[in-house]
Amino acid sequence: MSSFNVSQKLIANQLQARKSLGQNFIHDENLLRKIVRHAGDVSKGSVLEIGPGPGGLTQAILEAGAKKVVAVEKDRRFSPILSELAIAFPNRLSVILEDALEINLRDIPDSPLKVIANLPYQISTILLIKWITGDIWKSNCKSLTLMFQKEVAERIVAGPGSRKRSKLGLLTELYTEAKILFRVPASCFIPVPKVDSSLVHFEIRKAPKYHLDPSKLNIILRSAFNQKRKMLKSSLKPLFPDVKKALNTAGIIETQRPEALELKQFCELSLINS
Ligand code: SAM
Repeated sequence: MSSFNVSQKLIANQLQARKSLGQNFIHDENLLRKIVRHAGDVSKGSVLEIGPGPGGLTQAILEAGAKKVVAVEKDRRFSPILSELAIAFPNRLSVILEDALEINLRDIPDSPLKVIANLPYQISTILLIKWITGDIWKSNCKSLTLMFQKEVAERIVAGPGSRKRSKLGLLTELYTEAKILFRVPASCFIPVPKVDSSLVHFEIRKAPKYHLDPSKLNIILRSAFNQKRKMLKSSLKPLFPDVKKALNTAGIIETQRPEALELKQFCELSLINS
């Protein structure tokens, strides 16, 4: 297969993009190849792609030398296009016509696994949380290279002191090392969305950065970030019999707001009896 022809495939198959499924397709071949290059060496193990759609990114992954690509697509209308791609790359592409939210990373064969996806925006953070809190470090998954709405990407990587600091970013830091690779303008997609995107790369840690009870950390982060403007002594008061003492023990100034804290401080707080 020489050309990606994403636009032509959509026209030839009379496929109109469905907004409800986050269908904004990448038509620029150079961009598709660049995304795959930034995911690292794809020739070892398998690649999981969520939402192949008309298969532009899928083809770029296969042409980069991936021996096995598992592509999970909810919209069955893409089945004929993806079948053609599977024929062009014999025994290297498996298409699963299912909802990605039902797929478990551990069920994908052949390790190590890389996930590469231009995610549908509606489920991008839901999927990321499902993967990282689902013991991703115990799976064979080595990295995730994922497209997010630019603002979501910024929230994921925001450090302490940033107004963009988020619960999602802190959970991500516990299990991965994340960095924004590059920004992708809205004009690179068809149809053109209202917002720009950013490609984010996550290297999966061999073990969580700190050892703790994840469900307890989750409760603390939820309370703190649901009332982001409140000082921690107020937002976390319902969680501890003596919230000031708990904060002091964890080395946290009680008048601080959640965005100021390091992950380590939240983790220390989660080790204190509530
Ligand atoms: N990979 C293509 C590209 O880069 O041009 C399409 C990306 S488009 C942003 C998102 C794709 O995810 C669409 O093909 C859409 O049908 C699919 N999708 C949406 N929700 C899904 C779900 N729950 N499970 C699997 N695929 C889904």
